Amino acid sequence: MRILLVEDEPKIASFIQRGLNEQGYELQVAYDGKSGLSMARQGDFDLIILDVMLPLMNGMDICRTLRMEDTVTPVLMLTALGTLDDKVEGLQQGADDYLVKPFHFKELIARIQALTRRKNAPVQTNNISRIADLILDRNKKTAHRNNQEIMLTAREYALLDLFMQNLNRLLTRSEIAEQVWGYNFDSNSNVIDVYVNYLRNKTEKGFSSKLIHTVVGMGYIMKEN
Ligand code: CA
Repeated sequence: MRILLVEDEPKIASFIQRGLNEQGYELQVAYDGKSGLSMARQGDFDLIILDVMLPLMNGMDICRTLRMEDTVTPVLMLTALGTLDDKVEGLQQGADDYLVKPFHFKELIARIQALTRRKNAPVQTNNISRIADLILDRNKKTAHRNNQEIMLTAREYALLDLFMQNLNRLLTRSEIAEQVWGYNFDSNSNVIDVYVNYLRNKTEKGFSSKLIHTVVGMGYIMKEN
């Protein structure tokens, strides 16, 4: 099992290196972002562990670059920051998991084992959508706005997912009906409008901006302003 660690703090790097060697992992270490990226491109690693704050290139940029180049190697992000935003950003850039510093070594091993087990499973790198401060995570099937979780029914979730796959695009009622309900409605039915209102109440009420806009006589569009 070959692991690349990109970490600029020598103490942390050697702590991880010693521990992983004891567990039988083969570890290579890069101490800055640029050499980390070039090692990641050249080496055939089973896992990449990326610190976020790094000289020359940060961990988020390395991760995004690798994913743009279609590298599917699992990425574990180490973040000292630990706020939801940073975690979400890491996942958005294509990281598979994150660990907040300081962490217990046992926890690191558990994450490594989970990620390398999943190695042969299909990798989804585009599983998070975001508009303004609304975030949909398709892995966890959760929605957050302004860091608050929004509880949705299955139908509301499906509707939100459809909107977020089609940001800035008009969705007609019949498209929505077909995608979310899977059959044709009686055209007099107002069930779509009812559900759009449920979703608006949950995702917009008490938040900073409207995201779902009515296009009179046509349908709905999700966009910022
Ligand atoms: Ca660092």
